Amino acid sequence: MNVAALLSWYRANRRSMPWRDHPDPYAVWVSEIMLQQTRIETVRHYFTRFLERFPTWQELARAPLQDVLKMWEGLGYYSRARNLLKAAQSLRELPDSLEGWRELPGVGPYTAAAIASVCYGVCAPVVDGNVSRVMARLDCLSDDFSQIGNRNKLAERLQPWIEKADSPGDFNQAMMELGETVCLPQTPLCDACPLCAECKAKKRKRQSEFPVRREKKQIPLRQVLASLMVNDKGEYLFTRRPEEGLLGGLWELPNVPTTRKASNQEAAQRFAELLGTTPRETRYAGTVTHVFTHFRQRLHIYRVAVSRDLTLGRNYRFAVPSKLPLTTATRKALRLGPSARQSARQES
Ligand code: SF4
Repeated sequence: MNVAALLSWYRANRRSMPWRDHPDPYAVWVSEIMLQQTRIETVRHYFTRFLERFPTWQELARAPLQDVLKMWEGLGYYSRARNLLKAAQSLRELPDSLEGWRELPGVGPYTAAAIASVCYGVCAPVVDGNVSRVMARLDCLSDDFSQIGNRNKLAERLQPWIEKADSPGDFNQAMMELGETVCLPQTPLCDACPLCAECKAKKRKRQSEFPVRREKKQIPLRQVLASLMVNDKGEYLFTRRPEEGLLGGLWELPNVPTTRKASNQEAAQRFAELLGTTPRETRYAGTVTHVFTHFRQRLHIYRVAVSRDLTLGRNYRFAVPSKLPLTTATRKALRLGPSARQSARQES
């Protein structure tokens, strides 16, 4: 690989990012965790807000989980936020070696490689989706890079090249930047690519064949009946999900599993079991769908009003949406909310 051409392209074209050239490994760590599964442009705003709220790892370590989740709200993959907090709480000082970073919860081999190369000049190649796309095209590789073994082989392939670079951190960032801005998934901009002369896929006009696409598995559908209830202060009723597991610690509308949209009467019966009181009114308001990596979730939303004060368990709370970290599906469901405010007030 023409490492010199890659680096000089990167230095002339790299986009300005709030975490680039940041002197603080904590900031690079936060950015790398946020960038897992998420595009740079989405991360920018979250990163800046997060660093304003938690400017040091010590301040992060002292924060309640709910505050951290609130800062992460909408970014998805919430186990990243929980692990970031857990890792900060376990620290006496920030690690300064590849091995030290790898021991932290939520820091996989390639995140550790990114931090160690950028902050400490360690020659550890990063292999993410962008890098594997560039490499698949450069050498017409038909490996399945969702397999860890193939990603490790790719890292070995990159090792001699990162060792040639005067800055291992720049090498890794150049490869990722090339994938993100030039070697695009659908239409690679080969004329602007510093590696064009040596790219086998380009030479053979086979760019669209690499990386080889695996057939996507059908993902299951999970459905719930969700109650949208507003009190006379304009607060919604939410329930908190268990701390561990999917969307752990986030808040959502109280809900029960179902296999289909229910009639108002059926939904009222299910909510009566859930809330311990028969609703005075239950009216279907709409359905929203949210797609996760492994399943689709469909929420059938009902505006619900009850005739007396509810006795709420510890994991239930009336609150304005801005005060709690909410799941994305819940935020979508709340768009059905304003007219519920008139129809579903609790009677005193
Ligand atoms: S020449 Fe085109 S296909 Fe090859 S690495 Fe560059 S952008 Fe990607």
